[in-house]
Amino acid sequence: MSGIKFPIYLDHHATTPVDQRVLEEMLPYFGDKFGNASSLDHTYGYEASVAVENAREQISKGIGSRHDEIIFTSGATESNNLALIGTMEKYKEKGNHLITCLTEHKAVLDTAKHLEHLGYDVTYLPVNHYGEIDLELLKNSITKKTVLISIMTANNEIGTIADVAEIGKIAHERDVFFHTDAAQAVGHIPMDVEKMQIDMMSMSAHKMYGPKGIGALYIRGVKPRIKPESILHGGGQERNIRSGTLNVPGIVGFGKAMELSQKEMDLENKRFREWTNLMFEEFAKLGAVLNGHPSKRLTHNLNVNFPGIESKAIINSISKEIAISAGSACTTQMVEPSHVLLAIGLDETSSHSAIRFGLGRFNQKEEIEFCIKKIKNIIQVTSEIKI
Ligand SMILES: *Cc1c(COP(=O)(O)O)cnc(C)c1O
Repeated sequence: MSGIKFPIYLDHHATTPVDQRVLEEMLPYFGDKFGNASSLDHTYGYEASVAVENAREQISKGIGSRHDEIIFTSGATESNNLALIGTMEKYKEKGNHLITCLTEHKAVLDTAKHLEHLGYDVTYLPVNHYGEIDLELLKNSITKKTVLISIMTANNEIGTIADVAEIGKIAHERDVFFHTDAAQAVGHIPMDVEKMQIDMMSMSAHKMYGPKGIGALYIRGVKPRIKPESILHGGGQERNIRSGTLNVPGIVGFGKAMELSQKEMDLENKRFREWTNLMFEEFAKLGAVLNGHPSKRLTHNLNVNFPGIESKAIINSISKEIAISAGSACTTQMVEPSHVLLAIGLDETSSHSAIRFGLGRFNQKEEIEFCIKKIKNIIQVTSEIKI
């Protein structure tokens, strides 16, 4: 196994490495091109501003929006906060009701909880065994006071992809805004905010081979026009919606990452589908059960249960060779079971038997083969010990 660099990284839902081509694009903006994109009185600032607008164009192209509908933020966490808090505060006159679902990322769930403390009403829709909401239940949950529906595009633990176009249609039929946390989807599956009738969409560069600490919120400009209240106050950057000096190198990297992903997505998905199918086929021989939807899923995600095993023990014992996780990075420090696995109907014990594999752009077939062999081996040994 000479060609393999250990530990093999298979945790791409937590973060992705920065693509070399992205890094190269960013470097000048840490050097000579250090200008503040708001300082338009001289060439330093102007140069930075041109780079930012170029990235805005690249990003809007990737999601089918207008360039002036992209607001740069520090990442999907901030975008989710801005979308939820900013929208509920702005449209208080209309109502105080938010609809979301139980399997959202903590950046949505904890923001929703915060809104409850502020006096807003939140409905947390349940999901079925595959991690999907019931669209009839969604329709029936909308009231006159509903302002916003926030449902994630693709789940970061089990990879289930929601029917966002249908949710967008339902929202618009009832004059409700629709936000989606697409941190795991953008750059991985085709997204089109027009076709999908999305009003706001959270994105994060470090989930798509860009740098950490930069993201964006797409905010629809027409039909309907929406303008959330800002949650950061200051210099009035980003159309007064998000104050703060722009992270120019980050933005440039994000733009490049978006451009690359649009070119490489189809081939990548083909490769990942083949590999995750192969992995599951092999793991199923040892009794592994799939978590998430069998077909409406991210191709690079594989979340499986090995009944009777303690996944943390396995993951720790092979961490020198394979970097994988039991669930989301934000909750791995806790002994609490995953809220996503509980929501799809696993009990507390079986939720501790789940392993999440997240494949990525730079993985090689031989790494996947090594991983299959290693996991099969350790599961076999572990179950023999137990018997
Ligand atoms: C990673 C992630 C986030 C948080 O994004 P950051 O840019 O790290 O703040 C939010 N939602 C989902 C679904 C994610 O996967």
